[in-house]
Amino acid sequence: LLMLGIETSCDDTAAAVVRGDGQILSQVVSSQEDLLARYGGVSPKMAEEAHALAIDQVVQKALDDANVSESDLCAVAVTVGPGLSLCLRVGVHKARKIAKAFRLPIVGVHHMEAHALVSRLVNKDLDFPFLALLISGGHNLLVLAHGLGQYVQLGTTIDDAIGEAYDKSARWLGLDIRKGGGPALEELALEGDPNAIKFRVPMRQHKDCNFSYAGLKTQVRLAIESRNICASDIPISSATEEDRQLRADIAASFQRVAVLHLEERCQRAVEWALKIEPAIKYFVVSGGVASNQCVRTHLNHIAEKNGLQLVCPPPSLCTDNGVMIAWTGIEHFIAGRFDDPPAADEPDDMQYELRPRWPLGEEYSEGRSVAR
Ligand code: ATP
Ligand code: FE
Repeated sequence: LLMLGIETSCDDTAAAVVRGDGQILSQVVSSQEDLLARYGGVSPKMAEEAHALAIDQVVQKALDDANVSESDLCAVAVTVGPGLSLCLRVGVHKARKIAKAFRLPIVGVHHMEAHALVSRLVNKDLDFPFLALLISGGHNLLVLAHGLGQYVQLGTTIDDAIGEAYDKSARWLGLDIRKGGGPALEELALEGDPNAIKFRVPMRQHKDCNFSYAGLKTQVRLAIESRNICASDIPISSATEEDRQLRADIAASFQRVAVLHLEERCQRAVEWALKIEPAIKYFVVSGGVASNQCVRTHLNHIAEKNGLQLVCPPPSLCTDNGVMIAWTGIEHFIAGRFDDPPAADEPDDMQYELRPRWPLGEEYSEGRSVAR
């Protein structure tokens, strides 16, 4: 069983071929970080164009690297949401074109489910139910995974996701963000004192599992402005030693509080989750921000304290990738959940169903019974 996975929901064009037993045969990612760094953000239209330019090559390379052709595939898996419609459409269009030409079924994949399920490729013992924290540029989710396609959302962000706070802070600190704001800030934080600046920990008065990162982001901006370091105008490479230390202190202090906020909400989520499903053994942490070492260390501590095993995929499977889409496609395909191949006369410009806003399961509020 061979699955091609295609991912274009955000700013990476990715494809991969994965075998039914979880063997990764190829993994190709073409990133738009360069565009992001150059233009200070990417518009949906620019992202769409970048995907459209990259998609054919990325998919072809994934097939070539795996040494397979389209006719060897059992199906094509593609992200259909959540994400930017313009971007999703590029991937879905490509998937349908291949599926039509080679009479292959299609599996429409939920991007955040894929972030969660790739942990089952990494750890074959990981069975449902499990608790998952999914942290990325656009999402901050705590979910209880009961089974394939069956999730209960214990918490989400009420404003920004943690990755957005990392990205903006890195930009304001004048870091070189060509390889991403998160990794750049993590690196600088190593040089700083995490207790130098007392940022407030968000939402302590709310006894739930939701997150908020907009306030912390603003605190970082104010800390930079009040210290007059003009960081976004002067790149860190040209900063004086004293200025660099100050920026490192801000980065380290931000990271300490950003991660502490995760820890506090995850501790509560573990308690909620064990009440609903006492059989839980695993705590999955995935999504781009899960590649952060400080995040991994602290959440491992939460897992151990509660007798759970942490499963955190390697960084290349935490940030957006085609493997997680192919793997989620395999899981659904085996469960019989897929669409028939497109009709031979399907027009190329057909409007497909995309799901730009697609919640991952229903919301849970404490005390309310949970429908499965
Ligand atoms: P979403 O999954 O919500 O649609 P996305 O697909 O853009 O968002 P991912 O690739 O899953 O995001 O994650 C990207 C985010 O992860 C970015 O915000 C990036 O800064 C962050 N990130 C990546 N590596 C690190 C790191 N080492 N430390 C902190 N943040 C990181
Ligand atoms: Fe993602």
